[in-house]
Amino acid sequence: MLNIVIFGAPGSGKGTQSENLIKKYNLAHISTGDVLRAEKAAGTELGKLADSFMSKGQLIPDDLMIDILASVFDQKIKAGDCKGVIFDGFPRTIPQGVALSEMLEKRGQAISAVVSLDVPEEELIERLINRGKQTGRNDDNYETIKARLDVYYNQTTPLKELFEKEGKLYSIEGVGSVEDIFSRISSVIDKVK
Ligand code: ATP
Repeated sequence: MLNIVIFGAPGSGKGTQSENLIKKYNLAHISTGDVLRAEKAAGTELGKLADSFMSKGQLIPDDLMIDILASVFDQKIKAGDCKGVIFDGFPRTIPQGVALSEMLEKRGQAISAVVSLDVPEEELIERLINRGKQTGRNDDNYETIKARLDVYYNQTTPLKELFEKEGKLYSIEGVGSVEDIFSRISSVIDKVK
């Protein structure tokens, strides 16, 4: 199985690139942000709890997130004949990174590659402000964007070192056309698959 982590700051293009990658490589897409937004839209208790963190730009607690991830992973694997999974928005903390490796190991699998999309902060902010205008996502406003970027730099970027040590980290320039970025990511995946 091809298990790709797509890694990057809010607004780095993880979702857009994931949509293209799942088609090209026949992968299932697990976006933890989408899972939580779907729970919110359905008005579940989990959705209400998640929104209380998301609307402030904070992370949902690790133990809850790790349970959600494992159950979504098992559902996706059972549901289709995919060749692997794209993890988009997970892991976001060191404990989540450790948990992902353990979860895959238990199932006789491993992370194939971590693709990090590098985008300068000014561009991230501009993209997210524009997305907020278009989609009305309630965490795409200036104050919450700043909080999400802080969380990313403080809690998520330390994961890069972990994956670097394991020889799994591939950093890609995340600026330019969507097609150019997609071909950079594809060449990484072609190498590891
Ligand atoms: P993108 O620009 O790719 O959409 P993003 O970081 O802006 O990335 P999501 O990945 O959709 O957006 O995440 C939105 C929010 O959902 C996060 O700010 C956080 O509150 C919550 N969330 C999503 N994934 C996790 C996770 N793995 N752990 C904790 N909280 C999460």
